[in-house]
Amino acid sequence: MNISKIIENIFFPRFCVGCNKEGSFLCEDCFFLIEAMEKTYCLCENPKTGVLKCKKCRLQSLDALYFASPLKGVLAKDIFKKYTKEPFLKDLSYPLSGLVLRHFLSLKKAPETENFRIKHLPFKKKKVAGYDINKEIVKKIKEPLHCAKRSHNIIIFSLLYTSKMEKAAKKMKEKGYQKVIGVSVFRK
Ligand SMILES: [Zn+2]
Ligand SMILES: [Zn+2]
Repeated sequence: MNISKIIENIFFPRFCVGCNKEGSFLCEDCFFLIEAMEKTYCLCENPKTGVLKCKKCRLQSLDALYFASPLKGVLAKDIFKKYTKEPFLKDLSYPLSGLVLRHFLSLKKAPETENFRIKHLPFKKKKVAGYDINKEIVKKIKEPLHCAKRSHNIIIFSLLYTSKMEKAAKKMKEKGYQKVIGVSVFRK
């Protein structure tokens, strides 16, 4: 930790984005107010549950999408905004990572992440933010998910599920990866 970081911590106390309680950017109570999905949904715009991919989306390159929470409600939207835009609260990467882990823990059939490498989609505004919003989360989830260092399967991580993930998945398949799954914190 550098000097400016230490000074920042002394003089700038943290307040919960949800309830304004002092201590952290998201308190425990507010963290558990955010819904962590207990099911998986297919890739379609009007997603179906019960299958990883329905008949409509079966031709897409992503083999599945696991997202932790819908980007709905004031709290989830506020966290998303403050992490991806000014004031760029980097440490929100902890609760956001926690949401992904909560999602995997609540799934009846979680993917075998130990058979996958994990890679993040690069964040364009990294210089403005001072960090990569996707990389910060990958750093925190790859160990608890026991992701492999090398594998012919790969997880593409992006904070928000977008069509960029499908494009990246297509490239990965062309490179020879067998299974390509998407993992996100939020889905619109
Ligand atoms: Zn709170
Ligand atoms: Zn579908």
